[in-house]
Amino acid sequence: MPRGTALLANPLLNKGTAFLDEERDALGLRGLLPPRVFTLEAQVDRAYANYRRKHEPLEKYIFLTLLQNRNETLFYKLLETYPEEMIPIIYTPTVGEACLDYGAIFRRPRGLFVSIRERGRIVEILRHWPQTDVRMIVVTDGERILGLGDLGAMGMGISVGKLSLYSSCAGLHPAYCLPITLDVGTDNKSLHASPTYLGLCQPRVRGAEYDAFIEEFVTAVKTVFPKALLQWEDFGNTNAFRLLRDYQHRICSFNDDIQGTAGVALAGLLSALRLTGQPLTAQKLLFLGAGEAGTGIADLFITAAVAEGLTESEARGRCWFVDSQGLVVRERMANLAHHKLTYAQDHPPVATLAEAIECIRPTALIGVSGMPSTFTDEIIARMAEFNERPIIFALSNPTSKAECTAEAAYRASGGRAVFASGSPFPAVVFGEQTFVPGQGNNVYIFPGVGLGALVVEAKEISERMFLMAARTLADLVTDDDLALGRIYPALTRIREVSVFIATAVAKEAIHAGLAGVVLADDEVESAVRQSVYHPAYQSYV
Ligand code: NAD
Repeated sequence: MPRGTALLANPLLNKGTAFLDEERDALGLRGLLPPRVFTLEAQVDRAYANYRRKHEPLEKYIFLTLLQNRNETLFYKLLETYPEEMIPIIYTPTVGEACLDYGAIFRRPRGLFVSIRERGRIVEILRHWPQTDVRMIVVTDGERILGLGDLGAMGMGISVGKLSLYSSCAGLHPAYCLPITLDVGTDNKSLHASPTYLGLCQPRVRGAEYDAFIEEFVTAVKTVFPKALLQWEDFGNTNAFRLLRDYQHRICSFNDDIQGTAGVALAGLLSALRLTGQPLTAQKLLFLGAGEAGTGIADLFITAAVAEGLTESEARGRCWFVDSQGLVVRERMANLAHHKLTYAQDHPPVATLAEAIECIRPTALIGVSGMPSTFTDEIIARMAEFNERPIIFALSNPTSKAECTAEAAYRASGGRAVFASGSPFPAVVFGEQTFVPGQGNNVYIFPGVGLGALVVEAKEISERMFLMAARTLADLVTDDDLALGRIYPALTRIREVSVFIATAVAKEAIHAGLAGVVLADDEVESAVRQSVYHPAYQSYV
């Protein structure tokens, strides 16, 4: 147990002005703090008042980051008290702004920066981390940060933010969490010239040298933190699919951009079907965008549809993609990226989304292209002509990139669209009805998946675990939610949602023989609940 100034400098143990008199005497703190002792609740009130004095989102982000680095209990208590206000600050959209400015707003390092110059020393670097029992690592190489592109080492903001969501939304103890940035350089030339850029000013290392670096990293994680789950985050297309495939059976790992997105989108689809009254097996999906999000969603849709009776090839035949070159068809196979190949359909070439809709007549249109306003009024109206309740998901982030607005979806479909978006949209009044659009935020899925995997010490994360997570999330949508057109539960229920998802994921791991800790089905939920972290001060005397 550290004492004195070392204790005050330890964010996991520090209580600041809440250290009791007897703790101040026992731990060498007397005189290092002003005499009045405050409760955690009083500290929350003071911190919130200070937070409200910051007007710009980025200022609020900096305030919260400094608090997190000073006193994690207070930080998480504040987040628990004001989740809807603060989650958009510590994660999207503000975290994107923070990453863009990471060098300028940098105060104190958080997480581990592992650069390619340190090849051969990764075990040593991981051992520098003060916690020895790390269970959750979020790692990025910064190549594709949100919709912002290559931000190199400044991607650290994403790893830090995601882990804060694990603790605040699923109750993963912060001491278990380790954010990591792998710095292999950046191809963003403006960063090389930037006086505040914090990473290596060199082009990205690729090919065999990159692969050897990743291999050393994964092996080092297994050596130093053998119980850790590794979450790949915001890697570029060329590496994201490969790394997921190559390592998913070698280390407990998943990719949230691919699999977490799939979980939340499938949950939305399952809830939407409660409104359309159709079975999953009757769906035909048309995606605009064939990247990590789109193909990830299609992969999980196939798992779900096969579980409901379709053959794999029937289910695959229900997934159609339009990318920047038009419909993804066999004729284009010679020039298609690897992850699109299995979705190349036997169909003549089609150039535009509007034409593809005419040919395919999908039940659901899913936007994951990053291309704003591509779901025009005409396209939405056409979807509504051959679907009583067309499913329209405009998932591209941030709001400015959404394929259509909520208002456009409801208006152009005559109030019949079942709509969800990646970024939040305000409620829409159409005729007599008020619609509350659902936000397909990955935060509904990944914290619960991670928590469930950790509770039973899963050896790997399977596609079926995401299926169970999606079904659980969809089941938590109430009839009242659906009456408002909202196909996700309110974000205020996130802790409860995460516990149920964790329970379902843990059970799936046990049934599939993937759990290191085997429990009876009726023991799993209480094991999950017992593992959940609640921000509160421990007594040190
Ligand atoms: P990505 O870069 O892997 O894929 C983007 C795809 O869009 C590529 O296949 C590209 O070819 C295609 N594309 C580009 N221009 C196009 C055009 N004009 N017409 C058709 N297709 C075009 O990115 P990603 O990870 O798949 O993310 C895509 C979008 O989805 C982003 O905006 C991201 O914010 C969003 N997203 C949302 C959620 C969510 O809502 N929960 C989760 C993940 C990603």
